[in-house]
Amino acid sequence: MRSSHLGGLLLVNKVLIANRGEIAVRIIRACRELGIRTVAVFSEADKNALHAQIADEAVCIGPASSKDSYLNVKAIIAACEVTGAQAVHPGFGFLSENAAFAHTCNKCNLIFIGPDPSSMELMGDKAVAKDTMKKAGVPVVPGSDGEIATIGEARRIADAVGYPIMVKASAGGGGRGIRRVDSPEKLEAAINAAKAEADAFFGNAGVYIEKFIIDPHHVEIQVLADNYGNAVYLGERDCSLQRRNQKMLEEAPSSFVTKKLREKMGEVSVRAVHACGYKNAGTIEYLVDATGNFYFMEMNTRIQVEHPVTELVTGVDIVKQQILIACGEKLPFKQSDIKITGHAIECRINAENPKLGFRPSPGKIESLHMPGGPGIRIDSAVYQGYVIPPYYDSMIAKLIAYAPTREEAIRKMRWALAEFLVDGIDTNIDYQLEILKDSDFLAANYDIGYLERKDFAKNL
Ligand code: ADP
Ligand code: ADP
Ligand code: MG
Repeated sequence: MRSSHLGGLLLVNKVLIANRGEIAVRIIRACRELGIRTVAVFSEADKNALHAQIADEAVCIGPASSKDSYLNVKAIIAACEVTGAQAVHPGFGFLSENAAFAHTCNKCNLIFIGPDPSSMELMGDKAVAKDTMKKAGVPVVPGSDGEIATIGEARRIADAVGYPIMVKASAGGGGRGIRRVDSPEKLEAAINAAKAEADAFFGNAGVYIEKFIIDPHHVEIQVLADNYGNAVYLGERDCSLQRRNQKMLEEAPSSFVTKKLREKMGEVSVRAVHACGYKNAGTIEYLVDATGNFYFMEMNTRIQVEHPVTELVTGVDIVKQQILIACGEKLPFKQSDIKITGHAIECRINAENPKLGFRPSPGKIESLHMPGGPGIRIDSAVYQGYVIPPYYDSMIAKLIAYAPTREEAIRKMRWALAEFLVDGIDTNIDYQLEILKDSDFLAANYDIGYLERKDFAKNL
């Protein structure tokens, strides 16, 4: 989209990617197309990882354990100094939503490719984020104003909003620290369980209460904002297909969202971006009930796993825009330039066994054939002979199909899944195929409870 940058006219000519796996590879590719040199960082368990091999330079930052490597701020900053990288792209997970890391980068004269640390802080605490959004006129899920202090307070709020309710960790992410409560007798135990999980995962036991929205869709709006007050929304993604509050398959556009609702949600999202002075790419997650009421849930202040479906239907390269915005470039388009064309579906391909409760399946990929052809995109970091280490996320590839209509995208995806061969480890490919064959999925008749109700693993 911005060929004028091929000559290396940007503020930055070397970027360090503080991540691994497919997202690191995705970012390296975007940098290359912009004429930017790349530095990969890798753990001792990742010396054969693709991202470490295809970057211009690669620096080992510590042992396998994430806390000693991909979360090791000192080692990452040192790698920037040694290689002369001027900017850091954090990807998703790891340090991507860590405001203190972004702040450290800025203090060390490194550009953090993402929003200001202050926006990350504001959105990182989900209870505070909800409050901020409410003040900006964004509808939020009814519930407590901020964290709950006592059981008595929790009871009063739960009674007022009505059961079932959700207890959610303020510092939560990745579906952790969330408990549904159906009746008052179960409230105290659920709060204690959510607090314990939140403390273990996030080192922060704070929780808040939300009304449980029955059978909603998870619809999220992608936004982009530059440093000059320009912001656009790139339509929505429907991420209702979740297992244990974790996304499995995503599509854009959502068959459930009308043109009118899309515009309304988009405009509210852009207003929210302006209200908190947000910069760079971000995603605002909403729950939408059967009648089209939508409620803010959280904002993710980073690139999202499922960003490719939006890239395909809008033609905007979101990762390149992240880099360009961080380099001080203006958004090259206005809202009226953004058109949604065609339909895209993403299946997350995980190294896991759906028949054994989705148990992770690390190990050696003995043979591999990945599908291709028009309208098929694969974002992956695996290759034949690669040994998937047991230490990190089990997602090994994202298979994305793009076609003029939903029906054609589904047909393309079915053939692509059928063609995808992985030997040596277990994957969820056959499980994804079950979804793609289901009559309710074909009719776009689903909500966030769909995967749990269908229990496709039993068909395998
Ligand atoms: P999305 O899929 O919408 O991008 P997820 O919530 O699934 O967002 O998170 C993306 C990645 O980041 C996943 O690998 C997830 O495990 C990881 N992640 C999300 N939140 C946290 C967190 N608070 N701490 C550690 N990892 C996280
Ligand atoms: P995380 O930070 O872990 O991604 P979210 O707040 O985004 O947490 O919630 C994760 C998922 O949990 C949502 O996508 C949705 O499926 C479910 N969920 C969260 N809040 C509610 C609610 N109030 N009612 C019903 N489902 C909810
Ligand atoms: Mg979420």
